[in-house]
Amino acid sequence: MISADAFQADPEVRRANYRRSTHNHVDVCFFCGRGLTQSALDRGSWVHMTVGGMLVPRGTEVPDDESQGCFPVGSECARRIPAEYRLRFTVPAVTTVTDDPDTF
Ligand SMILES: [Zn+2]
Repeated sequence: MISADAFQADPEVRRANYRRSTHNHVDVCFFCGRGLTQSALDRGSWVHMTVGGMLVPRGTEVPDDESQGCFPVGSECARRIPAEYRLRFTVPAVTTVTDDPDTF
């Protein structure tokens, strides 16, 4: 695991982005605080972080009480994160019911 601190934007950028995010109530990049679109949330990268601030590589089991959960990352910050630490979530596909229940 690697420390999440290694990927933080500089403090002035984070402060400015934090003010923006708290006033517009948008989802923001975990590292720099820039706003993220719904498309970025659906198709972008996420990181899994422990309560100790360490990023968790893909495929690593973390006990529930040691996990802080997953956080979205903007495309610029995602480029700085090693591939094995970037997670992608698949947007659930729309399923079509093809069988008419009345025919059974
Ligand atoms: Zn970012």
